[in-house]
Amino acid sequence: MVERLQHFGVITSSKVAEVMETVDRGLFVPSGSAPYDDSPVAIGYNATISAPHMHATCLQLLEENLQPGMHALDIGSGTGYLTACFALMVGPQGRAVGVEHIPELVSLAKENIQKSAAATLLKDGSLSVHVGDGREGWPEFAPYDAIHVGAAAPEIPQPLIDQLKPGGRMVIPVGNIFQDLKVVDKNSDGSISVRTETSVRYVPLTSRDAQLRGY
Ligand code: SAH
Repeated sequence: MVERLQHFGVITSSKVAEVMETVDRGLFVPSGSAPYDDSPVAIGYNATISAPHMHATCLQLLEENLQPGMHALDIGSGTGYLTACFALMVGPQGRAVGVEHIPELVSLAKENIQKSAAATLLKDGSLSVHVGDGREGWPEFAPYDAIHVGAAAPEIPQPLIDQLKPGGRMVIPVGNIFQDLKVVDKNSDGSISVRTETSVRYVPLTSRDAQLRGY
């Protein structure tokens, strides 16, 4: 999977290649589906695990903000795959925090992570996954060097901007049917620069009720 993404020029970073090889996607995808194909897979509750090329793209956009010791927040952590990648990159001195509003998916993510290369980080507490509304962020471990949002927001939630460290970067899909992957940089004076990376299609960042009703 990683070699294919390198071949097609999606993965250019050796660090991202290494972390995606270390965290086995096969442990995070429901059995019976093809974990190493480059496509999203349904995980129940009207949610999906993103395609590997999207995980790779987001990891590369955030790479400089995922250095050892840094704090990373993963909103809509779903299977926990990307949260585990973040945890390996920031290491035991850093903090990787997943927030997901479906409690069953939080339990599933923890089970998945326990089988993965990030298991010790979960046990030692530098990696944690919480039930919550990701639109509020997770103030406990703020400010964050890196914030990833794995579901599309109608607009960028203010609490997430507030919880971004000066010098920090957030990657977030924004829009309804047509969505743009936005890269939000907080400058050292606290001002914000936003640019569009690419067009994407994610499930919505919404309320639990709306999601379980099927949006
Ligand atoms: N990065 C995850 C993506 C899962 S899909 C992965 O690759 O496994 C998006 C996730 O966002 C779903 O699990 C959904 O339940 C969650 N979600 C949607 N709205 C949310 C909200 N308001 N708060 C927290 N999680 C939310």
